[in-house]
Amino acid sequence: MIKTKKTKVLSLSMMVSLALTGMANANVTNKDIANDQMTTGDVVSYGLGLKGQRYSPLEKINTDTVTEMRPVWSFSLGGEKQRGQESQPMIKDGVMYISGSYSRVFAVDARTGDELWQYDARLPDGIMPCCDVVNRGVALYGDLVIFGTLDAKLVALNKDTGKVVWKQTVEDYKAGYSITAAPIIVKGKVITGVAGGEFGIVGKVRAYDAKNGKIAWERPTVEGHMGYIWKNGKKMDNGISGGKAGQTWPGDLWKSGGAAPWNGGTYDADTDLLFFGTGNPAPWNSHLRPGDNFFSSSRLAIDPDTGKIAWHFQTTPHDGWDYDGVNELISFDYKQNGKTVKAAATADRNGFFYVLNRENGDFIRGFPFVDKISWASGLDKNGRPIYIDSNRPGNPADSKDGKKGSQVKATPSFLGGKNWMPMAYSQDTELFYVPSNEWSMDIWNEPTAYKKGSAYLGAGFTIKANNDDFIGVLRAMDPKTGEEVWRYNNYAPLWSGVLATAGNLVFIGNPEGYLLGLNAKSGDVEYKFNTGSGIVGSPITWEMDGEQYISVLSGWGGAVPLWGGDVAKRVKNFNQGGSIWTFKLPK
Ligand code: CA
Ligand code: CA
Repeated sequence: MIKTKKTKVLSLSMMVSLALTGMANANVTNKDIANDQMTTGDVVSYGLGLKGQRYSPLEKINTDTVTEMRPVWSFSLGGEKQRGQESQPMIKDGVMYISGSYSRVFAVDARTGDELWQYDARLPDGIMPCCDVVNRGVALYGDLVIFGTLDAKLVALNKDTGKVVWKQTVEDYKAGYSITAAPIIVKGKVITGVAGGEFGIVGKVRAYDAKNGKIAWERPTVEGHMGYIWKNGKKMDNGISGGKAGQTWPGDLWKSGGAAPWNGGTYDADTDLLFFGTGNPAPWNSHLRPGDNFFSSSRLAIDPDTGKIAWHFQTTPHDGWDYDGVNELISFDYKQNGKTVKAAATADRNGFFYVLNRENGDFIRGFPFVDKISWASGLDKNGRPIYIDSNRPGNPADSKDGKKGSQVKATPSFLGGKNWMPMAYSQDTELFYVPSNEWSMDIWNEPTAYKKGSAYLGAGFTIKANNDDFIGVLRAMDPKTGEEVWRYNNYAPLWSGVLATAGNLVFIGNPEGYLLGLNAKSGDVEYKFNTGSGIVGSPITWEMDGEQYISVLSGWGGAVPLWGGDVAKRVKNFNQGGSIWTFKLPK
C-alpha cells in the first residue's frame, strides 16, 4: 500500500513538472530556425543552423575546463532491435527530441533523461534500406516533430503527446524508396530527399506545407524528369531546369537513373538557396550508361519556393565507383583580397574537397582530403576530375564470357573518403573538421537489368583498409589553401558527425565507443569518455539553466558492418547499443 501511495505522489509531481514544461514550451517558428546557430538555448535545426556549420558559440566547456566534463544522464532507446543510431538530437524548452533506428522517435526531459513519449512507426516487412535501419534526425516546426521513415513516409507528431497529426507517403517503398535523412524546414515548408539509388529509383526532392503535409513542389534529380509545383491543390509543370531526356544518358536509362538525394539538404538565407547532393547514377556499371548522367553525383542549388534548379555542380561525372555526391554543402564566407567570398564547401565520397561559389556554383578550388586517390589524377580548372582510365572497372562485354569485367583496386572505396557523417566549420579557426576514412576496394562490373524493387548494381566489390593501424582520420582542413592543419588517426572507420565550439573544441565519436573532445587548433585529445557502444550519431551542444550541455547518441551500426568487406571483419566485435548520453561541467 505504501508503495502505491509513493507511486501516486511521484506521478503527480511528474504531472506538475510536465504542466510547467508545457506552459514554457513554445512553438518553433521560422525565426527560431533561421537564428538557430546563435541562439544557444535550443537546437531546432539539423546542423545547428540551416547552413549546417555545426558550430556553436558556447565556450563554458573549453580546452581548460573540458577535463572536468562528466555525464549527467543516459537514456536507453531500448528494444531488442538496436542497430545504428545516426541521429542528431534536437532541443526545445528543456525537451530533447531524438530519432532512433527502425523509425522511432523519443521525447525526453533534457534535465533528467526521463522519457515523455515514444513513437514507433509500424514498418511493413518489405522495406529496403540499403545501409542499415538508421534515421538521422527530426525536424521541429510549430508544435510538430516531423521525420522520415524507412517506408518512405513523412510523419508529423504532436510535440507534447507524440500522437500523429499528419502523415504523407513520399514514395513507394516497394520500388526501393526509403527516407533516412533529417528533413529541413525552410519558410514553413518541410523539405526531404529520398534514398534508394541502389534500386534504380528516381531521385527527387519534395517540399510539403509543414503545418498540414500538403505537397508544394517536387524536383526530380535525374535529367529528363519534369518538376511540378502545386497551387491551390492543382499540379502544374514548373517549367525549365529538368533538362531534356537523353542528353547525358543513353536510351531509357534516365527512367531508373538513381541520383538519390538521400542525405538531406542545407539552406543558405543569403542566396535563398537549398543545397542537396545526389547519389550514384544507376546502375553502378558505368559502361551501360555512357555520358555525364545528369544530375547524379552532384550538388544542386534549388529554389525553395518552386523547386527549380538554380545551378548544379557535378563532382563525379559518369561515376563508375558509387561515389555518391550526397555529402553536405556548407555555406561559409571568407575574405580574400579585401573582398568577402560567398562560398560553400563539401568533402566528397570521391576523396576531393571542393570550394564553390554558392551564388552560381562556380568552382573556386578543390584538393584531395585523403592520402590517396587512384581513379583521378586531379581536378581541372572547372573542377572536373582528370580520370585515370585504367582505374575504371572494366566492361563485362569485353570479357570472354561477358559475365565479369576486369577488376581494379580503387581508392577511396565506395564507402567514401567521407560518407554521410557531417563535418563542421569553425567560425573561430576558419577550418573544416572532416571525418574521413582511408580505405580501398576491389571492384568489378557485371551485367544487370532494371527490375522494380531489386538491387540494380551490376558490380561486385570488397573493401580493404589501406593501413594496419588506422582507417579513420579526423582532419582539420584549411578551405583557402587545402592544407591539412592537423589529423587524428583512428583504428576503426569514423562514422560520426562532428561539432565545433567557440571553446576551441571539436567533438566526434568513434566506433570504439568514445566521445572525443579535441583541441580545435592542435588536434590534441583533451577529453574522452566511453559510452559503451560505437558512436555513429552527431553531437550537439546547448545551454540550459546557465550551464552548457553536450549530448550524443551511442549505438554502433550503419553501412560499415553491412558492406565493409575486410573492414567489417575488423570491427565485428564492437558491441551494439542504443542510448543517448548527456554531459556537462560540475556546478
Ligand atoms: Ca538555437
Ligand atoms: Ca550509392
